[in-house]
Amino acid sequence: MCNLPPTTQRGTDAHLKIRDDFLPLSRPALGEEEVAAVAESLRSGWITSGPKVAELEGIFRETTGAPHAVAVTSATAGLHIVLSALGIGPGDEVATPSMTFASTVNQIVLRGATPVFADVDYGTLQVRPDALAARITPRTKAVIPVHFAGAPADLDPIRAAAERAGIPVIEDAAHAVGTAYKGVPAGGPPRPGTPGNIAIFSFHPIKNITTAEGGMVTCYDDALAARLRRLRFHGIERDAWKRYGKGGTPHYDIREPGYKYNLTDLQAAVGVVQMRKVAAMNARRADLARRYLAGIEGVPGIDLPEAVPYAHAHSWHLFVVKVTGMDRDAFIGALAERNVGVGLHFPPCHLLSYVRERYGTGEGELPDTERAGKGIVSLPLFPGMSDADVDYVCEAVREIVPGAGR
Ligand SMILES: *Cc1c(COP(=O)(O)O)cnc(C)c1O
Repeated sequence: MCNLPPTTQRGTDAHLKIRDDFLPLSRPALGEEEVAAVAESLRSGWITSGPKVAELEGIFRETTGAPHAVAVTSATAGLHIVLSALGIGPGDEVATPSMTFASTVNQIVLRGATPVFADVDYGTLQVRPDALAARITPRTKAVIPVHFAGAPADLDPIRAAAERAGIPVIEDAAHAVGTAYKGVPAGGPPRPGTPGNIAIFSFHPIKNITTAEGGMVTCYDDALAARLRRLRFHGIERDAWKRYGKGGTPHYDIREPGYKYNLTDLQAAVGVVQMRKVAAMNARRADLARRYLAGIEGVPGIDLPEAVPYAHAHSWHLFVVKVTGMDRDAFIGALAERNVGVGLHFPPCHLLSYVRERYGTGEGELPDTERAGKGIVSLPLFPGMSDADVDYVCEAVREIVPGAGR
């Protein structure tokens, strides 16, 4: 206990008994069923993209309501082929929040297009539809709202603004497996039978379901889906699985060169099992989030995540607080001394060195994003956490933040 910062040495309070094991920010919820599914795929003789990928794509068509689902090696790869297929390149702009993972912005930049940034709401960290709409110019070729932390972005006004401009909405649904907006799942159609947006999900180990690495693109346009399938695999029209399977033909042609972003069956096998569990895993995340909200409520100098003001289902991908009552790094250090890991989601993209240098962005442009960016800390949240783990973190926070009391 001798290394604790002075803020914890006050008063006569009993100190928190420091846990022996490290509580990480996140840990994937994988069990024997996933192990068995991988073993089955290994033994089947078909380990790369095949029947398991087709099954996982079917599950995403069913759960989102989108007619097309294209599995890829990551959400980042998905963004790359979506921006490519939409023909977005030099001279074009893409509007997105700065409060997002750099992957989104990197892909815009790597296409040679210019990212333009919209502010978020400080309390919810969701992109403000009016701010996003205000960034649309004649050069804007798409908008990319982010379903931040697992709550949905306000899609209706965003869709309306994009429709007026005649440009597509690409939902960054990396946090949104299980998220719904006004009763419609991320990637889903606003009304049955109508087209929805393009949506991109992530299966990175920190996300709500994992395939180690992986992602899924859903969309409504047949030609776009066909192009995404080609760009995913060398530009070849048909799946290797069908070319090399019984009754297949080994011939192929390539109309445009593609990348190598196909998900493997070993990974998809894990994804299929994870999708069976996702509702229960997200329900557990929601329980833990409620426990955090109650446990930290009223602590001065900690701003809790606020609920979005429209009907929604929250996947609770992350639990992001903002530290205002003390130095954020000191807060993180004090949690580390108590064996608690945290994350930063996210350092604002418009303040990243290369973005500042290339696009002349900087401090003072996005007040809520910048204010939030200085305080954000993601606390541990994953389905395998116990109630006692949450209580421990809440107690640690109360001990660390000056004037919180325990
Ligand atoms: C994780 C994440 C991505 C990228 O996902 P990968 O599957 O790791 O490429 C994109 N956008 C956001 C908001 C993310 O959190």
